[in-house]
Order: sequence, then C-alpha cells, then structure tokens
Amino acid sequence: MKQLYLLLFVFSALLSPCTAPAENIKTPKKMEQQKPSNPYYSRTDTAKLNLPDAVWKKVLSPEVYAVARKKETESAFSGRFWDYTGKGTYYCAACGNALFRSDAKFASTCGWPSFFEEVRKGSVMYLPDRSYGMVRTEALCGRCGAHLGHLFDDGPPPTGKRFCMNSIVLDFVPDRQEAKKAQ
Ligand SMILES: [Zn+2]
Repeated sequence: MKQLYLLLFVFSALLSPCTAPAENIKTPKKMEQQKPSNPYYSRTDTAKLNLPDAVWKKVLSPEVYAVARKKETESAFSGRFWDYTGKGTYYCAACGNALFRSDAKFASTCGWPSFFEEVRKGSVMYLPDRSYGMVRTEALCGRCGAHLGHLFDDGPPPTGKRFCMNSIVLDFVPDRQEAKKAQ
C-alpha cells in the first residue's frame, strides 16, 4: 500500500507542471452542470436534430428555451459575450453544434456578440423574418434549428456580414480546453 501511495505521489508530482490553472478546469464543469438533463447536447455529433417543442422545453433551461425556441431577444449589453474577446469556439447552447470561431468575432457597438462569418458552411441556417414590420434574415443553428439571432449586411470585411447573436444561446469553449481534451 505504501508503494502505491509513493507511486501516486510521484505521478502527481510529474503531472503538476502540465496542469492548467484552476480556473480553466472549472469552466467546462460549470458548463456541463447547466445542462445535466440535455442528452441531445454534443460537440461531436453533427446529425440533424428535429425534436418537438415539448422535448426542448424539458431539456433546456428556461432562459435558453425562451431565445432558442421562442425567438426572444436578450437585452443589449446584458449577455456574457457581447464584449468578450477570449480565443476559442462558440457552440450552440441547445445542441453543441460549432457555430463561430473567436477569430470571426468583431467589436460591435450594438450590445450583442457579433461575428462576420460562421465556422463552416451549414453550421448556421437562414430564414426570411418579417416580424415586427421589418424584413430581416433570421439565423438559426444548422443542427437543431435553435433561433440564434439575425444576419445583417453591415459587417466588416472580408464578408461584410454581421451575425448579431444572443449570448444566452452560445456556449464558449476556450482553445486551451480543446487542446487538453485532444491529448
Ligand atoms: Zn443547435
């Protein structure tokens, strides 16, 4: 038994220089805790989801459900990501589909996280939206159809597009965590 303890001690001492700071370890756990009952959430499965509204209501938090399924809009400057500049990937908070890279995010004064390009073709879907007497393009998750926000033509180069998103329907995963997971 003594040997085992010694072995564990040596092993942990060897590992310690490589471990990430505590705050980086905490983040994914916290994120997982937010959706313990959502079996459809996956950052690797790209199969399309076509689920009834009642299922989404059960597996999403009321805040995410209100925006993702009922197309509500969070107040400007209220979300977590409107001025966030961390390096990483933004995923759909309802299903885990990869949506945007932080490289495509730009500082926008509108109060919502804004991107000029999706992470890959098909990661975001588009629908004409004529609500509130306006003609806009609705942006939805390409995997689960969650409402994300709107697409405008007043973005910066190279695309000239502005994906105006709701923070609440985005899950952010820093690059360092992705690298750690792949090891
Ligand atoms: Zn989704």
